[in-house]
Amino acid sequence: MSQSLPHNSLQHITILGATGSIGTSTLDVLARHPDKYQVFALTANRNIELLIEQCQQFKPQYAVLPEQALAQELQQSLAAKGIDTQVLWGQDQLEFVASHQQVDTVMAAIVGAAGLLPTLAAVKAGKKVLLANKEALVMSGAIFMQAVKEHGATLLPIDSEHNAIFQCLPEHFVEQGIQSCGIKNIVLTGSGGPFLTKPLDEFSAITPEQACAHPNWDMGRKISVDSATMMNKGLELIEACWLFDVMPSDIDVVLHPQSIIHSMVRYQDGSVLAQMGNPDMRTPIAHALAFPERIEAGVDALDFMAISQLTFDKPCYERYPCLKLAAQAMQQGGNAPARLNAANEIAVQAFLDEQIRFTDIALVIQQTLSQTAYDKAETLASVLEADRQARQVAETIIQELNS
Ligand code: NAD
Ligand code: MG
Repeated sequence: MSQSLPHNSLQHITILGATGSIGTSTLDVLARHPDKYQVFALTANRNIELLIEQCQQFKPQYAVLPEQALAQELQQSLAAKGIDTQVLWGQDQLEFVASHQQVDTVMAAIVGAAGLLPTLAAVKAGKKVLLANKEALVMSGAIFMQAVKEHGATLLPIDSEHNAIFQCLPEHFVEQGIQSCGIKNIVLTGSGGPFLTKPLDEFSAITPEQACAHPNWDMGRKISVDSATMMNKGLELIEACWLFDVMPSDIDVVLHPQSIIHSMVRYQDGSVLAQMGNPDMRTPIAHALAFPERIEAGVDALDFMAISQLTFDKPCYERYPCLKLAAQAMQQGGNAPARLNAANEIAVQAFLDEQIRFTDIALVIQQTLSQTAYDKAETLASVLEADRQARQVAETIIQELNS
């Protein structure tokens, strides 16, 4: 998964999803190290105001938006400010800036399936890929990991749990496989989100605002809802299986509400290695950017005296049915994770748009999985088709729920 890159020259970086929570945290870290990193391209969906500010500060060669009209608006605003960033638009151009020969490192921080093709383009160009966009890997796990191997890409996890696991594994795990490194299992921690202790009979009245108010992390709205349902942990379970070449049975999911231990590796000799830190994504971002070196991330030192306690508990499937659906999808394999992910994206958006209740999210996913067909997902085309079909079925289920 990893190999060292020459680290004495300026690294050129493309950030896919620069205006999001991970994108802005990445730019915060980069701004602390102008001697090490130079921004090559920034991409966004709709937030032009923020993208203008970012172009002003980081002077990228390219900025990319999905739509032509927005791109023209951005180009005019930049020209008026005397910024000579070239604005491009469309899917092909996302892939262009992700795979450009001048780029060393790509931060994959688009949310959802929209990030799959540009992230894969970076992988196929053999880049150092910092993976925040877990949905891309969940959808296309086998194909994605095969492409990493074939094209000699360096894949480093940004998700705090996976970054923690990566830090707790021995260096040679990539070559030898985790099974021959004396490892017993992986402990994937999760805070349990904002509804850890909420009575179950109040779940159907949960509002988007309540679901997005995560106690420890400040994140985009989709992943915040995923954290509240614990689908996020489910997606992370699948992500961990692919990243570390293990099965769900090799991973214990443990509730740890304080989010101080970001995950652990249990060894056969009884040792447990944990990675700790304040819940701030700049730590895994800085770790992956500088790997194998370490750089300043702007994160406060962990104050042990201020932490009154670290607690652990077992997650309950009645409270978090999405976690179970994800574990089952990984067990089933093939296109099941892609269908699960697509149904979840549609259901979460419908919940955020106040079309369905919080408790309907798991229902929509479960029904979508049973109404769509299994296939081995051996080609990218079949993954994209499974994604398309599951979205369509989920939309229909949501319409029926509302009729
Ligand atoms: P966000 O919603 O804050 O940002 C998403 C970014 O993607 C924005 O820049 C947006 O413009 C862009 N985007 C959205 N839809 C797009 C589309 N259709 N085409 C092109 N660009 C599009 O999300 P986030 O919280 O930064 O999360 C990004 C990814 O990182 C997600 O996959 C998430 O699961 C993962 N992640 C986030 C965190 C976190 O703390 N925020 C932690 C771990 C993993
Ligand atoms: Mg995470």
